[in-house]
Amino acid sequence: MGGFPSDLQIAKAATLLPLGDIAAGMGIGSHLVTPYGRQVAKIELDAIEELADRPRAKYVVVSAVTPTPLGEGKTTTTVGLGQAMHHIGKRATIAIRQPSMGPTFGIKGGAAGGGYSQVVPMEQLNLHLTGDFHAVTAAHNMLSAVLDNHLFQGNESEIDQHNITWRRVLDVNDRALRNVVVGLGSRLDGLPRQTGFDITAASEVMAIFALARSVPEMRERVGRIVVAYTRDGKPVTAEDIGGAGSMAVIMRDAMAPNLLQTLENTPVLVHAGPFGNIAHGNSSVVADLIGIHSGDYLITEAGFGADMGAERFFNIKCRASGLTPDAAVVVTTVRALKAHSGKHRIVAGRPLPEALLAENPDEVHIGGANLRKQIENIRVHGVPAVVAINAFPGDHPSEHAAIAEIAASMGARSAVCTHFAEGGRGATDLARAVAEAADEPSEFRFLYPESAPLREKIEIVAREIYGADGVDYAPPAARQIDSYERNGFGHLPVCIAKTHLSISSDPSLTGAPTGWRLPVREVRASVGAGFIYPICGDMRTMPGLGAHPAAHQIDLDAAGEIINLS
Ligand code: ADP
Ligand code: MG
Repeated sequence: MGGFPSDLQIAKAATLLPLGDIAAGMGIGSHLVTPYGRQVAKIELDAIEELADRPRAKYVVVSAVTPTPLGEGKTTTTVGLGQAMHHIGKRATIAIRQPSMGPTFGIKGGAAGGGYSQVVPMEQLNLHLTGDFHAVTAAHNMLSAVLDNHLFQGNESEIDQHNITWRRVLDVNDRALRNVVVGLGSRLDGLPRQTGFDITAASEVMAIFALARSVPEMRERVGRIVVAYTRDGKPVTAEDIGGAGSMAVIMRDAMAPNLLQTLENTPVLVHAGPFGNIAHGNSSVVADLIGIHSGDYLITEAGFGADMGAERFFNIKCRASGLTPDAAVVVTTVRALKAHSGKHRIVAGRPLPEALLAENPDEVHIGGANLRKQIENIRVHGVPAVVAINAFPGDHPSEHAAIAEIAASMGARSAVCTHFAEGGRGATDLARAVAEAADEPSEFRFLYPESAPLREKIEIVAREIYGADGVDYAPPAARQIDSYERNGFGHLPVCIAKTHLSISSDPSLTGAPTGWRLPVREVRASVGAGFIYPICGDMRTMPGLGAHPAAHQIDLDAAGEIINLS
């Protein structure tokens, strides 16, 4: 890609509009716009009420095939599609997650889109933004302090010290904090016990923040957080130990979504950033409640492949928000489908294997099993799927044609998109295809009713979405499920924590694996956020830094400008 400017160069050359103008284009008056500097603002939640009588936008979720470790371009396509809507005479609002600072300084790789489809300013987006993540960290750790103090002051709730589920969080990739001992020192320094840190994106407070429809609902949900159990297995909540009110106070201002814009001045609501494996991996409900009345289309991204982010978007986020989607985009790349043929292995941080770059539409067809399954995973929810063929410089037209054939054989629309290289005008075919799909009558349905027992919900997702033959529960997992049902949490939806690199629970299985069973090792509960999460395989909730982290490169230049942030 000789001569193609870097993301940062493109971002710096953008002409941004005043955010008041961007908000006005969404029908949002200046009294609801709180500037945070010149290029970021918060939209007050009163906008939900004030916009309620305006027409409802079509609601589009952007998902993908099972990604390689490089990512297949969901954010880039979400941004490109939003920009493209303007080119076909429609108004779009984009809603995405706020990136976590851990990965920003860990593995290099933008979370603001890329090329000519980016959210700007990317420095603010990728760093502190308006401090929402810091608020989540503070609220979470406030509860940790209240909990340790509760133990220190006599443990009135009779918490079983060996059954404390609330840990601490930090927005830094720091493996040395995964397991720590707190309370060392003298008697006055608290009760020594082992605990640990997770990354802020993994905090239940983050998931609550993303799922609550209002500030009062956020307050109620933090009260329901289960921090520990008594010796006889009764849950002890944040409310019980007097921590919830302070948490809600710390979180209040963060509940207002952040408004930014794309390179082409499309409005972008950036809000919340729950993990995509142990949490639901979608941006906030409140941002969508604003965006759904602020244009013709509301386009939002759901983390990882359609088996992960989109399934949770449908069954967790839409259940919480009450909004129903009109269409889903499945972002697909030649490289991902070639990898799904099982003939190549893509490793983050290394160049693509030579053999993968050779023209080979047959491999695309073989790997297409993954695309077919992910299209089905959308359709089982009654939502039309549109395949976005995200074009990369090394692709061959025969390989794009292979993807288009697979989509057509499934009766799905598809479009080759070049929004990375060309901005919105490179995704106008996709925009038209999405507009047509969203005009079809929507028959949206949840995959399972809330009332189904937890085991049945897990089995339905495992069989229907992942293609498993069934589910095997380790003894502790079975005991945990029974205890959650006894404690009245059985009605919650499930958020299955498994690898995002395969539709199965084994990251080495490509395509659409069959003939396997889902092993559930452990089952945890996010009662405040409102889901139960079975854990299948090793799930890291605190990443580490690699041998050559981005943190080694990111710096300030002589003029005080940030360099090497991507
Ligand atoms: P996701 O949201 O699915 O993880 P991203 O949109 O963040 O994926 O894209 C992953 C990386 O690939 C980013 O660095 C992005 O800039 C880059 N990228 C995406 N699409 C293209 C493309 N068509 N050509 C070149 N690079 C791309
Ligand atoms: Mg993304």
